[in-house]
Amino acid sequence: LVSREMHAHDTVVRLGKVAVGGRGFTVIAGPCAVETESQMRNTTRAAKAAGAHGLRAGAFKPRTSPYAFQGHGLEGLKLLRATGDEFDLPVVTEVMETADVEVVAEYADALQIGARNMQNFSLLKAVGRAGKPVVLKRGMAAKVEDLLLAAEYLLAEGNEQVILCERGIRTFETATRNTLDLNAIPYIKQKTHLPVLVDPSHGTGVRDFVIPMALAAAACGADGILVEMHENPPAAWSDGAQSLYPEGFERLMAALEPITAAV
Ligand code: PEP
Ligand code: MN
Repeated sequence: LVSREMHAHDTVVRLGKVAVGGRGFTVIAGPCAVETESQMRNTTRAAKAAGAHGLRAGAFKPRTSPYAFQGHGLEGLKLLRATGDEFDLPVVTEVMETADVEVVAEYADALQIGARNMQNFSLLKAVGRAGKPVVLKRGMAAKVEDLLLAAEYLLAEGNEQVILCERGIRTFETATRNTLDLNAIPYIKQKTHLPVLVDPSHGTGVRDFVIPMALAAAACGADGILVEMHENPPAAWSDGAQSLYPEGFERLMAALEPITAAV
């Protein structure tokens, strides 16, 4: 169902008023996690002013350490929804557990399945049945074919509103947090009709590399980016080192313009 042989057209996924896929380049920006009301408002105000099309932030956070901030859960979902509504931006947020699918679907415009859950097949089936657009992130040790078969689970449940996301994979290289596999973008575009985003934040783990890799994503045919920004990255509760400052996000949006106009 994900293959181009089945559907010649490009699938366009609708997040509220925002379209992902087809023509155009969609920028979904926001902090790694929902922290506080003022952090959400200040970060989102800056994102919106610079031209972001959607808002991302996690309420349920998959953290490597059990002692790290795990997210605000339901309170975070409510704050995310309120902030998205205040600034008229659709919201994307991760669902980690099958038991939470219903409540996340109630508050979000799109359900994100994180890299660590890409092959959580019971979660995929439940999300496929939730009737909401999905952002499916590539597992850090998953082949592109594995990502496509994970997406197949969602489509097999009758949900075609699926966006794929390349977010970097584990390789022998340790200079960066992950190795952003941009080869995956033309491959995915050739093999499937689904839109694909690039996450240059988790893909690099390094703020200084986020803008160049976001521009590269636009140049190689991605349908958009999922990018982390924060009103004050050094104070972020998670992923501050890879989060853009508002000024950086503004520079990114300006730099994207000529590239997205050309491709
Ligand atoms: C995120 O988007 O904040 C996230 C946790 O991403 P990933 O699942 O790609 O690590
Ligand atoms: Mn993050």
